[in-house]
Amino acid sequence: MTNPDPYCAWCGGVIEGTPGPGRPARYCRRSHRQRAYEARRQAERRGLAPDGVVLNRHTWERLRDALYRLEAAATDVALDVGSERATKADYVEALGHLSAAVRDLQEVAVEPTAIRD
Ligand SMILES: [Zn+2]
Repeated sequence: MTNPDPYCAWCGGVIEGTPGPGRPARYCRRSHRQRAYEARRQAERRGLAPDGVVLNRHTWERLRDALYRLEAAATDVALDVGSERATKADYVEALGHLSAAVRDLQEVAVEPTAIRD
């Protein structure tokens, strides 16, 4: 049986492992299983959802804005692809905006950390 989600539930990294019998791994390493456990305990103490995520406002705004630019760029590409009058230059420009929007999103670093007392 293969792992239905090959990404670590803590860091999002790929889980390297040997498929086999038993429960599929949810974490890429033992320390990430521990961090996730600590985060669930902290969430419980603070009355937060066990799978909740807390972001600072700056990170949230950067992520929201980057997603908005990506959505707008993807919409532009879809319109160009659907248009019979779009030129090669239109495609190149739209794909350039899409590529820039992806880079903006990649620069928003969201690293998991457990809330400390
Ligand atoms: Zn991990």
